[in-house]
Amino acid sequence: MATPDSAQNKKTYFGSSWLNYLLFFVFWFWVFQSFSSQGPRPVTYNEFLGLVESGRVQSVQWGDTQLEAQAKFGIPFRDPDKVETVMTTQLAGVDETFLMKRLLELKIPVTGKIDKPSWFMQFLTSWLLPIGIIFLLYTWFLSRVRGGAASAGPFGFGKSRAKLHDKEDKEKVTFGDVAALDEAKGELEEVVDFLKNPRKYLSLGARIPRGVLLVGLPGTGKTLMARAVAGEADVPFFSLSGSDFIEMFVGVGAARVRDLFEQAKNRAPCIVFIDELDAIGQSRGGPGYSGAHDERDQTLNQLLSEMDGFDTSGGVILMAATNRPEVLDAALLRPGRFDRQVVLDPPDLVGREAILKLHCRKIQLADQVDLGMVARRTPGMVGADLANVVNEAALAAARRGVSQVESQDLEEAIDRLQLGLKKRSTVMGEEEKRRVATHEAGHTLIALSLPKADPVHRVTIIPRSIGALGATLQLPTNERHLITKEELGDRLCVMFGGRAAEEMAFGDVSTGARNDLERATETARQMVCRYGMSDQLGPQTFGLSTELKYLNTPFGRTEERNFSEKTAQAIDEEVKKMVDGQYARAREIMGSKREILDRIAAELFAKETLDRPDLDRILGEFPARKA
Ligand code: ADP
Ligand code: MG
Ligand code: ZN
Repeated sequence: MATPDSAQNKKTYFGSSWLNYLLFFVFWFWVFQSFSSQGPRPVTYNEFLGLVESGRVQSVQWGDTQLEAQAKFGIPFRDPDKVETVMTTQLAGVDETFLMKRLLELKIPVTGKIDKPSWFMQFLTSWLLPIGIIFLLYTWFLSRVRGGAASAGPFGFGKSRAKLHDKEDKEKVTFGDVAALDEAKGELEEVVDFLKNPRKYLSLGARIPRGVLLVGLPGTGKTLMARAVAGEADVPFFSLSGSDFIEMFVGVGAARVRDLFEQAKNRAPCIVFIDELDAIGQSRGGPGYSGAHDERDQTLNQLLSEMDGFDTSGGVILMAATNRPEVLDAALLRPGRFDRQVVLDPPDLVGREAILKLHCRKIQLADQVDLGMVARRTPGMVGADLANVVNEAALAAARRGVSQVESQDLEEAIDRLQLGLKKRSTVMGEEEKRRVATHEAGHTLIALSLPKADPVHRVTIIPRSIGALGATLQLPTNERHLITKEELGDRLCVMFGGRAAEEMAFGDVSTGARNDLERATETARQMVCRYGMSDQLGPQTFGLSTELKYLNTPFGRTEERNFSEKTAQAIDEEVKKMVDGQYARAREIMGSKREILDRIAAELFAKETLDRPDLDRILGEFPARKA
C-alpha cells in the first residue's frame, strides 16, 4: 500500500539534510583556505635568490623544509620600502650550502625555525578533518543500511520510524473499503467503539483488549483491515512493520519500541499497528533456535514489557498482523497482551464476488459482465489477488483500446494471474476442486453419522493454511480432559472419511489424504502403546518417551524401546487391525449413505463453505437416513 509520507521523508533526507552536510563542509573548507592564504607570500627559488642578491632581504628564518624571509617586497614606486614576509619554495632539492653561504656573506641575519603550521591549522588538519570525514562516511553508510528511509537524522536510529496516519489523512480507509470478512469486522467494531467512546466502557469497568492480533494468509486484507479500524475510529494510527525494528545494531530495536510507545502515549487515544509481527515475535528457544538473535530477543522483550506497562484506559490499542501465528512466541499471546485474535479467512464464493464488486467501483465495467461468474472462476484467490485481477483486466481493456472492461478482459486477467498462482499451490482447477469437495464431504458425512464424534461446525474447501486444501471444522461440545476408546475410534473413522469418499466416488485415491493418514496412524499407535486400549496386548504401555526441552520449550521427543521384537510385531498388528477396522467402517457408512455424500459434495463444490445450518438442511432432505 502506498504510504503517502514515505516518499516525502526520503526527499527531506536527501534534500535539506544532505545540503546541511555540504554547507558544513564548504564552511570548513573556507576556514581552512582563508587561514592558509594569510601566510607569507610564496616565491620561487630564483625569485628569492634575486631578492637576496638585490639586497632586499632583511632577515631569514631557516626551517627544515622551507624558509621564510622578510624582504622589501613592496610596490615599486608607491611604497618601495615596505617590508613583507615572503616564503620560498621548498628547500628540498635546493643547494642549501650555497644559499646559506651567500646569506652569511651578505650579512643577512639567519635564525633557525621549526616549521610548524599554527596550532589552529594543526588542530584543523589532524583532528577535525579526519573526524569530519569519518563522521560523514558513517552517516552515509547508515543511511544506506537503512535504505535511506530514515528521516530522523544521524542520531535518530533509536527513534521509531512509525508512519503516522492522521485524521486529516486523505487516503482514509473505512470498513466500507473492506468487503467480505464480516465476522472480523464485527469483532473489530468493538475496538472502534471503545476508541470512540472510552468512557462508556470504563464506567462499566469493562477491560478492553490490549492487543488485537489479525491472523490470515498473505493478501487476505490484514493491513487493509487495520487501516480501516483507524479510519473508522478517527484516531491517529501509527503503523510500522516488524522488520523496521530490526537493525544490525543490537539495542536499536528495543529503543525504537520504547520510542514508539512514548509517542503513542502522547497521542492517545490512538492505534499502534505492527505489521508482520513475526519478524520480531518469533518464538525464542524454539526449534532451529540458535541463540544468536540477541537483537530480536531484546526487541521482543521490550515489546512485551511495554505491553505490560501501558494501561488501556489511556486509550492506546495495539494491533498487529501476521500470517504465521504458529511461529509467534507464546509470551505474546498470553492474556493481557495479544489477547484477542481475529482471523481473516480467505474469501468464499460470496466473499469473492463482494470483493470484486468493491474493486470494480473504480473502473468502467461493461453492463453484461457477470462478477458472480468471475468469482466462480477464482477459487483460492484472496483479496489481493482479486484486486489484481480487476486491475489487470482494466489494463487489458486499455491495451485493446476500448473504453469499458468486458468479460474477455477479466478472463484474460484470470488466466494470466492463475499461471503465477498455480505455483503457490492454493489455486485449484475444476477437477481438483471436485475431488477436494468430495474428500471433505467424506469427513463431514462420517462426523455427522457417528454420535460420539465431535459435531461439525463448518466445512470448507478454501485453503486456510499453506499445504491444506480444505478443512472440516469440528467443535468439541465441551472442554475435554478424557477421551474414551470409543471416541478415539470414531475420530479415526472420521479421519478416514476423506480417503474413503475419494475411493468411492472416483475409484481412485489421491495424495490429499496424507495428513489424515499420518494423524490416524499416530492416533492408533498411541491407543495401543500409550493408552493400553488394545484387547490383544492389554492395559500396558510400550516404549519410554522423553520430551526434549530447551529453556522449557519442547522441541521433540525421543522414544526408547523397552519391549521385545515379538511385542513390536504384535503392536504393529494391533495398529493395523485398528486402522483397517476403522477404514472399513468409514467405507461402510459411505456406501450406505452415498446420496448424502454426493449431495454434500455437490453443495460444497458450488458454495465452497457449508455451515451447520446448511448441513442440517441437507440432512433434512434425507429423513430416513438421518443418524
Ligand atoms: P495482507 O496485509 O493481509 O497481506 P493487504 O491488506 O495488504 O493484505 O491486502 C492487499 C490488497 O488486497 C488491499 O490493498 C486491497 O486492495 C485488497 N484486499 C484484500 N482483502 C480485501 C477485502 N476483504 N476487501 C477489499 N479489498 C481487499
Ligand atoms: Mg500486510
Ligand atoms: Zn482429509
